[in-house]
Amino acid sequence: MIYLSTRGRGQADGLNAVLDGLAPDGGLFVDPTLGRESAAFDWQGCLQKDALGMAEALMSRLLPDFPGMGELVRRAYEGKFDCPELTPLVPVGDLWCLELYHGPTAAFKDVALSMLPQLIRAAREESGAKEEILILTATSGDTGKAALEGFHDVPGTRILVFYPHGGVSEIQRRQMVTQRGDNVSVCALEGNFDDCQRAVKRAFASLAGSPALAARGLRLSSANSINVGRLAPQLVYYFIAYAELLRRGRIALGERVDFAVPTGNFGDILAGWMAKRLGLPVGKLICASNANRVLADFIETGVYDRRRALVKTSSPSMDILVSSNLERLLYYLSEDPDTVRFCMERLEREGVYRVEPRMLERIREDFDARACGEKEARETIRRVWERERYLIDPHTAAAFSAVEGRESAAPTVVLSTASPYKFPAAVLEALGLEPGGDGFAQTDALEALCGRPVPRSLAALREAPERHRDVIGVAETEAYILAAAERRA
Ligand SMILES: *Cc1c(COP(=O)(O)O)cnc(C)c1O
Repeated sequence: MIYLSTRGRGQADGLNAVLDGLAPDGGLFVDPTLGRESAAFDWQGCLQKDALGMAEALMSRLLPDFPGMGELVRRAYEGKFDCPELTPLVPVGDLWCLELYHGPTAAFKDVALSMLPQLIRAAREESGAKEEILILTATSGDTGKAALEGFHDVPGTRILVFYPHGGVSEIQRRQMVTQRGDNVSVCALEGNFDDCQRAVKRAFASLAGSPALAARGLRLSSANSINVGRLAPQLVYYFIAYAELLRRGRIALGERVDFAVPTGNFGDILAGWMAKRLGLPVGKLICASNANRVLADFIETGVYDRRRALVKTSSPSMDILVSSNLERLLYYLSEDPDTVRFCMERLEREGVYRVEPRMLERIREDFDARACGEKEARETIRRVWERERYLIDPHTAAAFSAVEGRESAAPTVVLSTASPYKFPAAVLEALGLEPGGDGFAQTDALEALCGRPVPRSLAALREAPERHRDVIGVAETEAYILAAAERRA
């Protein structure tokens, strides 16, 4: 399969699309057949399988260049999630909540980042690449830890994670700075997540294929959701949710289901849209923004405008002004790389672009959008707890808030992207309780309240020593990467 760049100047086979992460022209790799006749996928057959079987079928369709996908899927998931269905579907009032946080780091990114290292390792072996693969990742909190957990000690790989200094929760920071493994580095950058993402993108552009890295036997890749190998595994839980509703007799085959998705970089929700393109009867995708409502505004007005201050919220993984994966949606809806390149250049240079009315109409056929402020998020956490005795984290709260009072004939699945135990201070505050003590005292307080056990991986952080203490300015990113490469060369 040939993947094309969204900006029209680059292509790669599946192995290299996964290894390179980003296209050489700065665009993202896309499968151009998705949604055309030739994209045929036996989605009904897929729904008959168990979770790992669905993952294998979907991954084989999206990344056909990888042999032995069944084995890669088993290595990624078996024994790593605390329930066999991977992502359980739980009734909460009139809604369904899809818990995506049963993996090793208690956030939905585990679904993709358990799989990606297996793909990278396989791509390296299959393509005969001699270099070690250096993974560069900018994180708003959850990706970093999930990537570290996926890549640590995977042969032929190294990983370097940058997170915004002061921009992640205490538990998230502890998760990252305590990471073990001989092939890992973690560094705080002075700036917000957008600064981080931009610094890493810039370093990527200037170091990819550079003699400096080649001399150290390294090749760059990315674990951010711009990587096709990161996006593909995220389709599976839309199928899992649909299959579960079928199994419970809540829908008949072919009936539409709406999905509400807490959104930041637009990867999670785009996977839902791709699932729809493969045939899954997805109704509306409800894009839930937090107080950084750039996507909600875009879907309302057709104007994407990042010229605003980034608000630090209680849902840091959604504190994003440039949602990278939106570029893929623009590509698919326009099928015109020149349009995409034009918009992305405008965004980079002027901070704003507008799409044609016809394009906006098409977006709104598939997407609704709502933004949720901090006060609303707190009220939502409290309301869901008081009415349903169900605890949600502040990211998930944005999605619950987005569907509150919404009229739809279709059943609605709300994606829950993080365990409430990852953000205990915010959750306690929302419930009107005093979040005294450190993060661990807070998770204890929540556990006592709701009776669900703290995920084991989070409990273990209590004893773990801090191993990574570096803090640097964004301008030093490239030098830091080279020095890290040197240390281990
Ligand atoms: C990353 C993340 C999101 C946003 O997902 P995108 O794919 O970036 O839109 C939402 N919630 C949590 C907890 C996350 O970690």
